Amino acid sequence: MSTGYVTRFAPSPTGPLHLGHAFSALTAWDRATARGGVFRLRIEDIDRARCRPEWEAAIRDDLAWLGLSWPEPVVRQSQRGAAYAAALRRLGDLGLTYPCRCTRADIRAALAAPQEGAGATRAYPGTCRGRSPDAAGPADAIRLNLDAALAIALPPAFDESGPEHAGRHTPDPAALAAGGDPVLARPGLGVAYHLAVVVDDAAEGITEVVRGADLFEATALHVLLQALLGLPVPAYHHHRLVRDAEGRRLAKRDDARALARFRAEGATPDDIRAMVGLSPGRAALPPPRREGR
Ligand code: GLU
Repeated sequence: MSTGYVTRFAPSPTGPLHLGHAFSALTAWDRATARGGVFRLRIEDIDRARCRPEWEAAIRDDLAWLGLSWPEPVVRQSQRGAAYAAALRRLGDLGLTYPCRCTRADIRAALAAPQEGAGATRAYPGTCRGRSPDAAGPADAIRLNLDAALAIALPPAFDESGPEHAGRHTPDPAALAAGGDPVLARPGLGVAYHLAVVVDDAAEGITEVVRGADLFEATALHVLLQALLGLPVPAYHHHRLVRDAEGRRLAKRDDARALARFRAEGATPDDIRAMVGLSPGRAALPPPRREGR
């Protein structure tokens, strides 16, 4: 019987799954099965130029080999444009977004300029803040005006159960603002990760987001977006990152750590679990759930 717990693994199909992904997916899976909950797969393929169907097929194959199953059909971000556009419109209607045409070089130059004042400490100095949303052109990014956003909602507290930050967290608005106004949509690419992930986690009824500790800081922005959009705040579990023998984080281009390679060399799913420091999987796996959608 389901306890109402729902989590997800949300890879981008831009390369092979490596041990770090396996750890993330297995951690989410183990947390779901221990709670009689649901494990979902979401394909984060907004960046059409970098995503490939063959990587998605390889990811599914690796996950199934590990013993994981998930409800079909899965959510694919490339098909969620209307939901993202609605969220962007809602933030725009609240007067919180503006079009930005700054290039990376413009931002570097503005940050290096002597009299930038408070803006100088920010990752983005707010150069385009005064531009009207109606002036948005096809080559513009859309940014969230954090000062305006924080004036109408503070980032709400969230429950975190990962090893590094366990506890209840209330993000610091000043630290969030110091990061600069985030990009919510990019020219030609549609919505950016931060907005898509928040919209999708809510649409899929995710009760606990399981992901790497590298995204812990981003959660402050995600819970703020949830508050602004009137979405529920899930619990979070930011797990440790799997590193190689030299202590470096694994990257998708690091084929030496690709699951496919260990598989080809005869490793079993429990060998993979042992390599990433997890206990053996359950012998009997629940059948995949089906959904009429
Ligand atoms: N696609 C993201 C990644 O691969 C997922 C991040 C998340 O789980 O929120 O890192």
